[in-house]
Amino acid sequence: MLGPDSSLVALILGVVLPLSAGDPQRAVALAGMLALVSGALDDAAVEAYLESLPGVGPKTAACVLLFAMGRAAFPIDTHVHRIATRLGWIPANTTAEKAHRLLAPRVPPDIRYDLHVAMVAHGRTFCRAQRPRCDVCVLRDLCAYGSGGRVAGWELDGRPAGR
Ligand code: SF4
Repeated sequence: MLGPDSSLVALILGVVLPLSAGDPQRAVALAGMLALVSGALDDAAVEAYLESLPGVGPKTAACVLLFAMGRAAFPIDTHVHRIATRLGWIPANTTAEKAHRLLAPRVPPDIRYDLHVAMVAHGRTFCRAQRPRCDVCVLRDLCAYGSGGRVAGWELDGRPAGR
């Protein structure tokens, strides 16, 4: 559950287990938290650990990595997901989990923070869920949705253009 870089977790586990009233689940959670705070886990291990917690999915894990830990993750929230779909970066009807697998690795690490923040702002002001303001959007010439499907990429029904 804790991924490949969990030797420190195992070490911490040995310390916290006796302090956890014999509750192995609590001990593992505590050990994972301590390893997170210590910065000992790599991104994949942090992600795996966070997603093992109840109610934590790829978006929340990526937000923790990016905003709380300063790691180069790319959270795909509702704005990023919607804009990426409209631009043709991912096919329509891509699930949030699949969008993370498809899109995040393709974004260069050094622009992930800025791109995420810019896309959230763009989604709130121009590329809104209802009535997007395509008529005044600077991305229109690059956008499959805003250009009415004229831009190469994905058709609006999610199929790759020309197939
Ligand atoms: S052109 Fe329209 S759909 Fe495309 S990014 Fe801009 S606001 Fe969104």
